[in-house]
Amino acid sequence: MLKTINCGELRPEHDGQKVSLAGWVNRWRDQGGVIFIDLRDRTGICQVVAEMENAPEAHALASQARSEYVLQACGRVRIRPEGTANAELVTGDVEVLASSIKLLNPSKTPPFYINREDSIDENVRMKHRYLDLRRPAMQANLMLRHRAVKFIRDWLDERGFVEIETPILFKTTPEGARDFLVPSRMQPGRFYALPQSPQQLKQMLMVAGYERYFQIARCFRDEDLRGQRQPEFTQLDLEMSFVEREDVMALNEKLMTELAQAVAPQRRLLQTPFPRINYQVAMERYGSDKPDLRYDLCAVDVSDIAGGCAFQVFVDNVAAGKPVKVMRVPGMAAGMSGTRLRAVARGLEDLARTVGGKGLAYMALDSDPQGEVKGPIGKFFTIEQRVALFDCVGAQPGDLLLFMSDRREIVRYITDVLRRHLAAELNLADPDVLAFCWVVDFPQFLWDEEGQRWDPSQHLFTMPMPEDVHLLDSDPGSARGSQYDMICNGYEVAGGSIRIHDRGLQEKIFPLIGQDMEEAREQFGHVLEAFEYGVPPHGGIAWGIDRVMALLAGEPNIREVIAFPKSQTGMDVMSQTPSAVAGDQLAELHIRLDLPEDDGAD
Ligand code: ASP
Repeated sequence: MLKTINCGELRPEHDGQKVSLAGWVNRWRDQGGVIFIDLRDRTGICQVVAEMENAPEAHALASQARSEYVLQACGRVRIRPEGTANAELVTGDVEVLASSIKLLNPSKTPPFYINREDSIDENVRMKHRYLDLRRPAMQANLMLRHRAVKFIRDWLDERGFVEIETPILFKTTPEGARDFLVPSRMQPGRFYALPQSPQQLKQMLMVAGYERYFQIARCFRDEDLRGQRQPEFTQLDLEMSFVEREDVMALNEKLMTELAQAVAPQRRLLQTPFPRINYQVAMERYGSDKPDLRYDLCAVDVSDIAGGCAFQVFVDNVAAGKPVKVMRVPGMAAGMSGTRLRAVARGLEDLARTVGGKGLAYMALDSDPQGEVKGPIGKFFTIEQRVALFDCVGAQPGDLLLFMSDRREIVRYITDVLRRHLAAELNLADPDVLAFCWVVDFPQFLWDEEGQRWDPSQHLFTMPMPEDVHLLDSDPGSARGSQYDMICNGYEVAGGSIRIHDRGLQEKIFPLIGQDMEEAREQFGHVLEAFEYGVPPHGGIAWGIDRVMALLAGEPNIREVIAFPKSQTGMDVMSQTPSAVAGDQLAELHIRLDLPEDDGAD
């Protein structure tokens, strides 16, 4: 070994020991006869001192060292002279007085500082990801990820789960995204699909009697990279036999809680047990099935009161079955001048318009309880109506009340967009808090207007709630699925369901979602066939490991917890992937390209 101890491990107890260190030059200072080098490795930084008088050769070598050079330094550990300790470094009480220094490799000047937490253009970071990953913050993230995955594996192992790998070259999986296809050379014209998830295979493992399966599984979905999705991502995929919804939820809640406490104790869990929210309630209150519960902004239905006021828009809307809802923003109007209030309200109204709203009315309560109610619609409400309204939403002096009225669906969009915007604006979402909840009782299907068919709200293997199975024939839109989603800080961190384990019921789903039986047999014949051989009742879940890690690491973006992520356009910028392939490779696969004009694939 070129090192006897790691840089970050040196402590006063090593005083007097001879050590050998190896790492990168984080910083260096040449003070004439003495050169100080901060040597960095994965574990931290320590100071190496090269004195011309004591070790002229080591000093000569140190004088050539520059940022990111790789060095080996041998010497004795000593307590730093009085007054020179560095409290910012855990190794700051000691230094290594070099007797020899060896240059293991020089380095070009890096395109950005590795030793500073500057904000760096993401494209540059991705192009030189190997340098970006040298930064201590990135190293901490990847090590946290390692510890978390190890924790999960050990935890599940202790509870009788078996990790089983499933193929990457497989068949289309119905998770609702586009497949990545891989052409088969041996069977010209045929394709594998990369798994969108191991869904079918984990169910096959239940048929095969494994009872408790998990896998840290790579999944692939060819989607436009809206937001922070990645075309390949990692799931904790899990399936259990002989269980009910409660069992899967309880196990996963315990695992998530213990994981967070073990690897990210500095993040506070807002509430345990995790609250459970009915899907419809979540949509009505928060306008989203992934509500961020770190803040309580929500929409309260005041149609009963507003329908009787003198504001014609509200009266007509309520008569037409469109709700009037109020979002109370605590204290937001306190001390605001009329002009400022109008400007703020206009900004929020513009925001509502971006999601299809026609307007946004408001009332502002004076900080003085005896004061006036400001806002153009106040006058349309009688004193009694106002009292009832304030009571209904729990209004306090200084609050801003935002009124939304439109088609139910639009009001939901507005609720969601306002919540997110106001939380950011008013700093309501504490980054150190993890607000978990479960959303349950999803509809089994959602109506797809364009395709004129029902789409599974999770996937086609989800079991309807037992008491709603009969609705599949009469009223599929009202059937609830046995799906459960675990949400944290506005993200879906895990989702799963109890599965259909009856062939007849599974077959019933295909026509409902507009799938021709012939086509279904072609795609899922193996599942249907397996379902004839004694399938245990089973259910499972999959966690988005990248998102869980970003939350535990306190990173807003999943790219910060993935070693080699793709860019927004699905590229690996470092290796310039995807790339063109040689003509003979295509010929072997019997593929001829038919590219649109101007396509840059050269
Ligand atoms: N296969 C599902 C998904 O990837 C999760 C599950 O139902 O277990 O979202």
